[in-house]
Amino acid sequence: MSSEPSQPDSRARRSLITGGAGFIGSHLTEHLLARGDRVTVIDNLSTGRTINLPAHPHLRFIEADLGDALSALGPGEVFDEIYHLAAAVGVGLVMKDPISAVRTNIEQTVALLDFAAERTAPDASEKGIPTLIASSSEVYGKSAKSPYSETDDVTYGPTSVSRWCYAYSKGIDEYLALSYSRQRGLGVAIARFFNTVGPRQVGDYGMVLPRFVGAALAGKPLKVHGEGKQSRCFCDISDVVTTLPKLLGAQACRGEVFNIGSDRSISIRELAELVIRLTGSRSGIEFVPYSEAYPPGFEDLADRRPDLTKIRAAIGFMPRKSLEETIRDVAGWLSGSAAGGDREGLHP
Ligand code: NAD
Repeated sequence: MSSEPSQPDSRARRSLITGGAGFIGSHLTEHLLARGDRVTVIDNLSTGRTINLPAHPHLRFIEADLGDALSALGPGEVFDEIYHLAAAVGVGLVMKDPISAVRTNIEQTVALLDFAAERTAPDASEKGIPTLIASSSEVYGKSAKSPYSETDDVTYGPTSVSRWCYAYSKGIDEYLALSYSRQRGLGVAIARFFNTVGPRQVGDYGMVLPRFVGAALAGKPLKVHGEGKQSRCFCDISDVVTTLPKLLGAQACRGEVFNIGSDRSISIRELAELVIRLTGSRSGIEFVPYSEAYPPGFEDLADRRPDLTKIRAAIGFMPRKSLEETIRDVAGWLSGSAAGGDREGLHP
């Protein structure tokens, strides 16, 4: 990993990944390096970790808040593509510190969109730098309809309940990105991620799969909220990161929002049972009432499943890796047996 710009190579694509030391960002970094890009990562390491990043001569890492780093980049610093993943991620983190989470998600996105709109690569045929914006299935709020389609109406809880501010902040990010596209001609594609899973995801802020696998490996109970009838769809990280450049590369995807994830539903109780079975654990399942797991006013969603019609039609998206394979990968990583794995992600 280098902190200095690599030697320019006119043929190599220059990519900027914000939040590149995080879970999704670090896998995307590896994917773009493998296709031959010169990659710059900006990350303030609030939830990301440098150990997630590979040592590679074509990787430049800038440790800073995104807005500060962008203003420090000289006028000659131009990228061919930007992937904006930096955010205060997940409902748990946002409920812990809503001021900083909302400010991060909105202010950093404004800074990024300004940067992308104002700079154009010398050999580019379009104005601004094509940018992918990471959004979330949380944007659907508590809509009862399932599966969720990109143009569905959404329903949120009141602003007095901080649980919803992640959804609001990601919705504002989408408004901003679409407006930069319409008003300033910036090439943006918006990806609404559903649950994405794989090695390097940590359970600190409630991500369920690493929490379950960590508990199963440690022989501790898997804590299921409520009765565990709520269901989710889990998509492997490799299917997600190989899709993002395709979304950004397709002209037809510019100015558009896409669901990205798996549409195979599993209840949280079934997920706990599957994790126990695949890890050969002797752990049991402990059912924790929502009133104990979350502050008053918390609402969980019964079901969250994407309608993938739009992304299939646009770029032929089809997740390949099964949940069973991902659980084995996560277990291998958490137990330190996978190549390059470490034990820091173990959260019993
Ligand atoms: P993550 O926490 O691992 O990654 C976010 C990264 O952003 C971290 O490395 C963090 O240090 C960095 N960051 C935060 N604030 C920053 C700032 N001000 N300046 C610079 N860097 C900053 O989370 P992730 O799961 O990899 O999520 C990546 C993106 O995908 C986020 O935008 C998130 O909202 C979105 N998303 C993820 C999921 C999922 O299932 N993982 C689901 C929906 C949406």
